[in-house]
Amino acid sequence: MNDNNEHICIRCGSPTISSTTIRQSANPLYPITVTQYRCTNEACQKAADNKQAELLKQRLEREEKSKKYHPIKKPEINP
Ligand SMILES: [Zn+2]
Repeated sequence: MNDNNEHICIRCGSPTISSTTIRQSANPLYPITVTQYRCTNEACQKAADNKQAELLKQRLEREEKSKKYHPIKKPEINP
């Protein structure tokens, strides 16, 4: 067993590279750190990016809709 931080892509089994991005949250004192594992297989990663972009678009559309019904913004806590 090797216990280094190497991750294997769940989609194609290629090794992945981790990249950490800091995202600004609603509270500037607590930025959200997001660690993503990018596949070294370009085609696989591209497909994953497309899927994620689509999910994000759907989420934004849903949020946009819910804003119309619930004008008061609630803080969102992601686990
Ligand atoms: Zn992959």
